[in-house]
Amino acid sequence: MRTLATALALATLTACGSAAAPHAPTATPSVAPITVTPYAAAESNVNAYVVSDGQGAIVIDATRTPADGAAVAALVAQRTTGPVTVLITHGHPDHFLGLGALRAALPDARFVVARPEIKADIIGMATWMTAQGWLAQLPAMQPKTAAHPDGFDYAGQLEVLDAPTLALPGGAALALTADYPATEAEHMTTAYSPDANALFTGDLAYHDVHLWLGVGVTRASAAAWQTTLDGLGATWGARRPTVYPGHGAPADLAVFAADRAYIDDILAVTASAPSDEAAIAAMAAKYPEHANRDFLLMMSVTNLRTQK
Ligand SMILES: [Zn+2]
Repeated sequence: MRTLATALALATLTACGSAAAPHAPTATPSVAPITVTPYAAAESNVNAYVVSDGQGAIVIDATRTPADGAAVAALVAQRTTGPVTVLITHGHPDHFLGLGALRAALPDARFVVARPEIKADIIGMATWMTAQGWLAQLPAMQPKTAAHPDGFDYAGQLEVLDAPTLALPGGAALALTADYPATEAEHMTTAYSPDANALFTGDLAYHDVHLWLGVGVTRASAAAWQTTLDGLGATWGARRPTVYPGHGAPADLAVFAADRAYIDDILAVTASAPSDEAAIAAMAAKYPEHANRDFLLMMSVTNLRTQK
């Protein structure tokens, strides 16, 4: 719609200009194309995306490690020297632990989430991981506290948006949706660029990577995830956007049905398999090309088999 409106406005300006000054040069104001640059992280098969109009950038997710976060920042620098906003889609560590490296490289960037619950999810996850000892190697990403003043100030750094939209300096915007039920995570954000016809699903979609149904995902939230996938397929069927998943390569709408079938399979396998090992072997046989068997699949099987 924005593109159409812009085209109509330009046509009107050109027509008026021609009428008033027939010999004036007809300048054609350029509307910078929106580029989408995926970054496939070295760790966790997770993605970040740089959406840019050349005048600025919106980064979707921050990846898991300082090295990957720095690589995302380098990708941003190739696209723009303008203002940068980093959107974290949900409160899982493979999407936010790269924020420290992004902050170091992009001191003026805004770090944003679509709703306060996601900020709480992020702080809760970082606090829990610290208590588990899982951030012992990443002290700079442990939450900043009086006892740990060198940690990351999640509370101060993360801004909660007051409207479900993010604009680039040239005027193009991403429309955000963040009212999904608990699925892969307690709360989730998707973003759509009408200019690029690009749908960023967060972790509602995985493409040829084992889905996370580990700690925090119940059989009920797995079912809600399937319903949500059906809804995405119905909502976007007519527009056929490119789907940019949280994990794995860019896809088309078929990824939603594939993920739905995967969830059916892992729920059935973990309900009947005699052991974690047998369930992992059965899923690996069904999905021989899926990446991240050793962590994502293993954690999902362990979690779901405790909920039989
Ligand atoms: Zn993820």
